[in-house]
Amino acid sequence: MVRETVIDGGNRPGEDPERDLRPKRIDEMVGQHEVIARLRIAIEAARVRGEALGHLLLDGPPGLGKTTFATCIPREMQVGLQMTSGAILKAPRDLVPYLTNAEEHSVLFIDEIHRIPKIVEEYLYTAMEDFRVDIILGDGINARTHNLWIKPFTLIGATTRSGMLTGPLRDRFQIREHLGFYSDEELTQIIVRNASQLNTEIAPQAADEIARRSRGTPRIANNRLRWVRDYAQTKADGTVTMDVTFAALEMLGIDNTGMDPLDREYLQTMIRVFEGGPVGIDALAHTMNTSKDTLEDEVEPFLLRNGFVVRTPRGRMATSKTYEHLQLLPPEPGVA
Ligand code: ADP
Repeated sequence: MVRETVIDGGNRPGEDPERDLRPKRIDEMVGQHEVIARLRIAIEAARVRGEALGHLLLDGPPGLGKTTFATCIPREMQVGLQMTSGAILKAPRDLVPYLTNAEEHSVLFIDEIHRIPKIVEEYLYTAMEDFRVDIILGDGINARTHNLWIKPFTLIGATTRSGMLTGPLRDRFQIREHLGFYSDEELTQIIVRNASQLNTEIAPQAADEIARRSRGTPRIANNRLRWVRDYAQTKADGTVTMDVTFAALEMLGIDNTGMDPLDREYLQTMIRVFEGGPVGIDALAHTMNTSKDTLEDEVEPFLLRNGFVVRTPRGRMATSKTYEHLQLLPPEPGVA
């Protein structure tokens, strides 16, 4: 029996907006072939040996499948899953119930693991390495520390910032995998499959077009597909055609490169306020009144990957491609 317990940090089953489109098995996942091939070997070996899978760290930008892997892996292994998030693990006592409740070989998924405070991180070390935890029973002078064995489990940590993890924490993960962006063909495959899950008819070119404008990210492809479907249902006969796709995406301000209004605001701020850079991320975030995390996680990976921004030791700079795209005149010499 596969037990799926979603506690605190995660959405409860039924409330997860991604749940209807999230692949249930690794076989249903598109792309990430090398990661999947390596994980299959590790999963199979652990199963044959009758051991827990080694602790796994998944890193990469948001929406690329970290949570999907974390939910598919325990299904493959037929073990239970508990989910939480680094943002709500403020003290070791927040972590204790997960560790003591973990069934043999089950998976504990900690999303945004870079956000756990040092004291929680240190508490994790012995749990991960020796499957032991210290718990304090009683109060004041009666307080006693008890050393408790816990069942061997697998920690799956997900992070968008592997650089923020300390060396000792990173070293305790036997398997580390980086998830990269998806090709347009892979996103098309995801869109066609998900349109059918949503009972929506879609023209092949429309699926290609949505894929091309989804910034290599399945979550964005799903969101854009849902929007285009809504548009098709209210403004047309429900079929997602090319015309519907163009009109729906234009209404959201998504241009032919997949750039959305926030990306353009970032580039325009960089050019208009900071003369094309170099400019630091803090200054940009303050000026745009947006969180630095949003810019670093959701805006910059796409702009950097597509050559609209470069990072230099002195800060971010716009490129000639950016001026061209925004139809602005570059300043005299010195544009990156
Ligand atoms: P992350 O945890 O990295 O932010 P998720 O795992 O929540 O990303 O992925 C977001 C959504 O994208 C999922 O609900 C799923 O529908 C889709 N998705 C992600 N990876 C894949 C994949 N490899 N194949 C198909 N769909 C995927």
